[in-house]
Amino acid sequence: MSLNRKGVMPMKDKSELSRRKLLGQALSGAALVGAASVPAQAINRMNKVASKYQNHPNGDRRCALCMHFQPPHSCQVVPGNISPNGWCKWFRAGKAGGSMGY
Ligand code: SF4
Repeated sequence: MSLNRKGVMPMKDKSELSRRKLLGQALSGAALVGAASVPAQAINRMNKVASKYQNHPNGDRRCALCMHFQPPHSCQVVPGNISPNGWCKWFRAGKAGGSMGY
């Protein structure tokens, strides 16, 4: 930002400043709207209890074979420590072979 000889900000700089300010406000507003638009219920419905998580397989279905499993003990869907031998209602087959890899 620069001032001209009369100490006045040229029109171009003013428009750049206002564009920047507007963009910054829009982005921060979008972030707030984005954060507020994820209801707490949607986050909570993925917890272990609501997901019917168990520390043992459901038949031949287990976390190590699920597409959401992230070795060694995490899941993209259910928060917390996840056993490769666990299971929950969000199970989706996706890992071929089920090698535990550790
Ligand atoms: S979605 Fe369920 S079954 Fe799949 S890895 Fe996560 S906890 Fe295990």
